[in-house]
Parts: sequence; C-alpha cells; structure tokens
Amino acid sequence: MTTDDCLFCRIVSGEIPTELVAESEHTIAFRDINPAAPVHILIVPKRHEPNIGALADASSADLADTFALIARVAQQEGVAENHRLVFNTGRDGGQTIFHVHGHILGGKVFTER
Ligand code: 5GP
Ligand code: ZN
Repeated sequence: MTTDDCLFCRIVSGEIPTELVAESEHTIAFRDINPAAPVHILIVPKRHEPNIGALADASSADLADTFALIARVAQQEGVAENHRLVFNTGRDGGQTIFHVHGHILGGKVFTER
C-alpha cells in the first residue's frame, strides 16, 4: 500500500473532494459514507500509517493531534459525554482501509460490547 493507491491519502491531498467536519495541523475529520450511527465521523491522520500503533511509533505529535481533534469533533457534534471511539485494526479487527483512522460513533445507545 502506497499513498498513491490509498483512498484516505487521496482524500487528505484533496484529490478526492470531501466535506470536512474539522481539520487540524496533522488530522482531518469527515462523515462516514455509510454511517452506523446518527453521528459517525472518521478521524484521519494526514500521515499515512497503517494503524494507530504505527502512528504512535512514528510520531507522538501526530498521535496527540489525532486525539485532540477527536475531543474537538465530539464536542462539536454534541456527543462529548456519550460516544464510542473505535480503531479497527487489521483484517480480523474489521479494518477495511489500511490508513489509520478512528470512528466516533454517537447519537444512539450502544449495548453490545
Ligand atoms: P474500517 O472498516 O477500515 O475501520 O472503516 C472504513 C470506513 O470508511 C467504513 O466505515 C466506510 O463506510 C468508510 N468509507 C469507505 N469509503 C469511504 C469514502 O469514500 N468516503 C467516506 N466518507 N467514507 C468511506
Ligand atoms: Zn494513506
């Protein structure tokens, strides 16, 4: 996987237009195309790394920026006190796009673990 054939790199670069919910120095946020909850935002570090562990290894500044934007977007969307934050990792973890991203899911009650 290179950045040329990575969907989220193409969104980060602006090659594929997307309406952003928020942006910071190292991170962007936009709505999931197939929402699993009334609020479903993807938080996408601009740097191409395959998963959150690789991002943590590569850059603590990018990692901190990711979580700062998660907090800002959750606030903006009115779900700061009630949401689920998910980083699917690897095929067995349900990851389908191998560019690190977090899902903020809110606006519904989650009962399953
Ligand atoms: P994963 O399964 O890798 O954790 O999550 C990938 C997510 O990206 C899925 O929830 C899917 O609906 C979303 N997605 C896939 N392609 C696009 C797209 O082109 N635009 C947007 N906004 N979301 C996408
Ligand atoms: Zn990428």
